[in-house]
Amino acid sequence: MTDTIAAVASASGIGGVGVLRISGPLAPVIAQTLLGREPRERHAHYAAFRDADDALIDRGLLLAFRAPRSYTGEHVLELQTHGSPVVLRLLLARVIELGARHARPGEFSERAFLNGKLDLAQAEAVADLVASGSAAAARAAQRSLDGEFSQRVRALVEAVVRLRVWIEAAIDFPEDEIDFLAAPQLAADLAALRTRLDELLAAARRGVRLADGLHVVIVGRPNVGKSSLLNALAASERAIVTDVAGTTRDVLRETLDLDGIALTLVDTAGLREAADVVEREGIRRARAELERADLAILVSDDTHAQEDLALLSGLPADAARLVVHNKIDLAAAPPRVERRDGRLHLWLSATSGIGLDALVDELRRNAGAEEGDGAFSARARHVAALERARGHLALAADALQRQRAGELAAEELRQVQHALGEITGQFSSDDLLGEIFASFCIGK
Ligand code: GDP
Ligand code: ZN
Repeated sequence: MTDTIAAVASASGIGGVGVLRISGPLAPVIAQTLLGREPRERHAHYAAFRDADDALIDRGLLLAFRAPRSYTGEHVLELQTHGSPVVLRLLLARVIELGARHARPGEFSERAFLNGKLDLAQAEAVADLVASGSAAAARAAQRSLDGEFSQRVRALVEAVVRLRVWIEAAIDFPEDEIDFLAAPQLAADLAALRTRLDELLAAARRGVRLADGLHVVIVGRPNVGKSSLLNALAASERAIVTDVAGTTRDVLRETLDLDGIALTLVDTAGLREAADVVEREGIRRARAELERADLAILVSDDTHAQEDLALLSGLPADAARLVVHNKIDLAAAPPRVERRDGRLHLWLSATSGIGLDALVDELRRNAGAEEGDGAFSARARHVAALERARGHLALAADALQRQRAGELAAEELRQVQHALGEITGQFSSDDLLGEIFASFCIGK
């Protein structure tokens, strides 16, 4: 890795200030050329940036960081100009002329990872922070970037290593092996490890939900007020609301920031048997959405509640945990909330907004808002790795406790360690790294 990379790090488009970032061995030379003298490290120099013909491109700030005290761990140069895309393009061209090349997406963070400045989960948190769609998601990403998630993973790895040492020592003393493997302490340590892994897995799942947003699907018979509810929550008129049953034929999607919590709401065509081909397709999609949802809201027209609730029997077991009894304004009924058979029933009116706040509170609770402060961001990749680790840990426990097979248990624990190491990047393939960093934006 001896080449020098450069990219515009600020958002594309016009802004007050634009930032160009350069990393690699040529950064000091480029700095010296642009400034006309050697810059002081970590000092803001006011500079006139000129092209090869000495024409002024812009005046701005030049900041030099010397390896390894920089984001990437290499020599880094940051140039701040007026936030004009034209100015930034000209300055980038100048920097390329001086020997840098265009950076690929995520290449700065990839170098930071390869130079040990960040582990893989932290590098991913950088991208999650940049992309965060809500205050809670941003706070969670910040916590992962701080290393909270990585530290918990590393603590688990240490516990696994201690167990491996014990078991491998037992294998080395065949005459005592069975006693070693039957030690109550070993069983206790294994059980404790399992508990901690389960806790981390649950936390990571919440972290994914915080980052991606809670995926909520609104289902119910035609005309009960699904689109009206989506509109009320989104306070926009994206869905078509009509009196004709079966108007919402497609699936409408709206991503909301509900007081700092990201939420994707999907309005589906009514769940009912339809003759119309278009509507039938909508219903098929509604069922598909239901399978991917974190939460489904069954909307019922309170004046026909019996027919609506009959739909519940046709839905997956715990799919609809929320039942909205809509249109209470027609009966002049007061809003209320009741828990019945493990479901939360809310009486409200989508069009008048009465009782809507109770639904918003419940959605926020489901999205992990109450977890609030402890939450860190995570990705599906992390959850998959933790699940794999848990599978191997169960096999290790079985090998020990039922079969007293030390070799087998040690091998399974090695797999646990490997799965955990994939999260922080201790074990990672080039393919995986390529895939992860390619999804970053340029300049990060
Ligand atoms: P969908 O087919 O389930 O999406 O139902 P819509 O949202 O299109 O609503 C069907 C009809 O019910 C429309 O005329 C809405 O204005 C009406 N509606 C929806 N919610 C309420 C409500 O809370 N009160 C009253 N009075 N009418 C409502
Ligand atoms: Zn609708």
